[in-house]
Amino acid sequence: MSLDYDVIVCGGGPSGATAALMAAQAGLRVALLEKRQYPRHKPCGGGMPMRVGTWLPGGIPEGVVETSVRYLHHTWKFQNGHLGAVCPSGVSPDSSASSLALWMVQRPRFDNALAMQAQQAGAVVKDGLVVRSLILDADGVTVKASSLGDGRRITWSGRSPHVIGADGANGVVAKAVKLRSRRRLAFALETELPHHWESDHPYLRPDVAHLEYGAVRRGYGWIFPKGESLNIGAGVFYPHRGKHTNFRSLRQELEQVIEGYYRQFNLNPSRERFPLYAHPLPLWQGREPRQTPGGQVLLVGDAAGLVNPFFGDGILHGVKSGAIAASAIASQQAHDYSRLLHREVALNFDAARLLAGFFYRFPHWCFTHVVQRPDGTEVAARLLAGDLTFSQVSGRFAQYVGRQLLRRA
Ligand SMILES: Cc1cc2nc3c(=O)[nH]c(=O)nc-3n(C[C@H](O)[C@H](O)[C@H](O)COP(=O)(O)OP(=O)(O)OC[C@H]3O[C@@H](n4cnc5c(N)ncnc54)[C@H](O)[C@@H]3O)c2cc1C
Repeated sequence: MSLDYDVIVCGGGPSGATAALMAAQAGLRVALLEKRQYPRHKPCGGGMPMRVGTWLPGGIPEGVVETSVRYLHHTWKFQNGHLGAVCPSGVSPDSSASSLALWMVQRPRFDNALAMQAQQAGAVVKDGLVVRSLILDADGVTVKASSLGDGRRITWSGRSPHVIGADGANGVVAKAVKLRSRRRLAFALETELPHHWESDHPYLRPDVAHLEYGAVRRGYGWIFPKGESLNIGAGVFYPHRGKHTNFRSLRQELEQVIEGYYRQFNLNPSRERFPLYAHPLPLWQGREPRQTPGGQVLLVGDAAGLVNPFFGDGILHGVKSGAIAASAIASQQAHDYSRLLHREVALNFDAARLLAGFFYRFPHWCFTHVVQRPDGTEVAARLLAGDLTFSQVSGRFAQYVGRQLLRRA
């Protein structure tokens, strides 16, 4: 049977769109299939380190960054506010040399811009098409898809030697090839409220993001400032292992955190107009196969379980894995993809998971002794960007905890 494409990418979020863009730029014949019509909503805070730009050919698409966050305002139960600058010591937070700033985007616009770049690079982008099944044989994969919704049903079928599974936390590709059968899911809730920047609160500003630790068990709440809106959310990022999760009670707990922020900043949005969107986050849980043995199917982003187990962010790691998968296919190394990906992320994420275990079990101690340290915010920004790795800080962190405990004893 003939092959229609060199690679079919299933799912058009940041990881899939990046993979399609890079594969097309490498001269491969690419199809990108996305379930929903662009631009589509994805529950997400839309915050990311500037480092994302270095993994995207041509940098971040023009016009999508709405604000650059330069300060984090940390609270415990909405009290004890601590404002920290994300910039490296010695650099003014407002200087353009501060490469640690956090970019804030609207996901519909960001994802759409990446998919359009992939199209301009030569990828065939088909939105509104749901991947339904994958059939693997000796020399290729057949992907079958059909349209979503009530209109006239469109069916699509394509064959290629490689498929990239970029279909997120609830995707079908990993299941179809029996990868990632055991998953560790975090859970988060968010809403986006229109906002005019004329608040009398000193820290409700376009360059300040807010993080709340005491009101959420094993997670945190946030406000991310955008051009003309606030993204307000909360998540549990260190779920109890093995315990059956009651999503309804978890959701109620997270809703209370978001309402806490509404009270704090005198916001009074209507629930009907501004609903809360919930979504799971597949956390890193260690090395495991992220490809089929010969490299016919590769998983990226949330589909591969690449959410940072400490911060709960996934955009950078989705983009990174999309880039690694595309270049592995382009350089005939698809059979080696898991190793190439793990070389980039595994040590760091393993250490992040260990530190998350401590941070989320002893959040008040960590708020007082880590978050509020003068360099706490800068270190967090470096870890988010990957300038500093969790594996580099874990030894020093253990010593620091030991010294603090001894001092107290
Ligand atoms: C509430 C919340 C807040 C978050 N905030 C942040 C944040 O501020 N910063 C950050 O870095 N990360 C954040 N994350 C995590 C981040 O959203 C994800 O890690 C990121 O979206 C992963 O990108 P992806 O491309 O792998 O998957 P997705 O963005 O989920 O994209 C997958 C795509 O595949 C499509 N798809 C699914 N099934 C099919 C199918 N069968 N056929 C075709 N297409 C399909 C979907 O429609 C979707 O467009 C947050 C997550 C949540 C839930």
